[in-house]
Amino acid sequence: MIGAAPNAEAMPRSGIREVMDLAWSLPGPIIGLHVGEPSFSTPAHVLAGAQAALDRHDTRYAPNPGVPALRTALTEKLAARNGVHAASEQVIVTAGGMQALFLAMIATLTAGDEVLIPDPGWPNFAMAVALLQARPVRYPLHPERGFLPDPDELDGLVGPRTRAIIVNSPSNPLGAVVEAGLAERLCRFADAHDLWLISDECYDEIAFDAAPASPAAWDREGRVLSCFSFSKTYAMTGMRVGYLVAPPRVAATAAKLQEPLIASVNTPAQYGALAALEGPQDVVAEMRLAYRERRDLAARALDERGVGYLMPQGAFYLWIDVRDRCGGDVRSWALELLRERQVAVAPGVTFGPAGEGWLRASLATGTEELLEGLARLAA
Ligand code: PLP
Repeated sequence: MIGAAPNAEAMPRSGIREVMDLAWSLPGPIIGLHVGEPSFSTPAHVLAGAQAALDRHDTRYAPNPGVPALRTALTEKLAARNGVHAASEQVIVTAGGMQALFLAMIATLTAGDEVLIPDPGWPNFAMAVALLQARPVRYPLHPERGFLPDPDELDGLVGPRTRAIIVNSPSNPLGAVVEAGLAERLCRFADAHDLWLISDECYDEIAFDAAPASPAAWDREGRVLSCFSFSKTYAMTGMRVGYLVAPPRVAATAAKLQEPLIASVNTPAQYGALAALEGPQDVVAEMRLAYRERRDLAARALDERGVGYLMPQGAFYLWIDVRDRCGGDVRSWALELLRERQVAVAPGVTFGPAGEGWLRASLATGTEELLEGLARLAA
């Protein structure tokens, strides 16, 4: 009898969702440090933009690559904040940053291709690559190199089937930030091996110390596909708006692919995103500052309890060392922590083999809950 497609069935499940499902199934209140869900409300001007679209019945299909005014506004944002000078034809509005990533991959990869992905790295990279019947090849991120990709080491992982590399900065789960020099070297690495560079910059506006650089700003040969999102920057995760910036030679193909994937992004949500760009930006700075304060408070709390962690430079996660507590099985340890102490965290191993013995706690959760969760975790 026919069954689910083997590659769909074999796709690994996100360990974050496993924790989420258990958390939802428990009867009492839990402290949720497992997901990157901003504790802030969606800014009023974003809601007003979406509401105005609803009020004027702008609820029909949008063009496949997005509402024209939003694409134009995005070219201005990209030039001003990312140093990326793109034509509006290169910008494709997507259903969140995840769909931008999937679109970038589906536009550039075929079955059997190898894709270099970070270890540890966001689990969805490996999941999407597997769905396309391509093969993820993990590249290690080393603490002594600031958990940043090392182009010299990457050279050794490239084979005849390697087609792309995924780079994530500021990174989830590590908070590592690619700055200008490395962004340029990664572009030259992609040139040297004739690869696509898929750059996940969904946390581009959440950086504390270092200045994140967009590899696309150094792209000479049209190899960089950059993925961005409104989800985290404007605390609008459920509105599902992101965007892909593709080189001219692949942009029209990517835009065309939106038809069988999603047709177009929710039209009122696109107007919410437009309002996000056109409205006051102090909300973004306020949230960034709050994440930074939480990072510093959490770091102090862990220092006081003698728990090791990595100090993130961007995004909003703490990568916490529980190697001496979890007995080599952080997944079971995290599930037990949730059942016994009502604290949900993401087990590091879901981010790749290098994450065994580590866990990820989200700084997007409110300060009080965050500190209480860390205290229970360290106890
Ligand atoms: N990329 C990374 C590294 C993420 O952590 C996330 C969300 O957690 C995304 C992309 C996608 O975000 P969204 O699809 O909500 O815009």
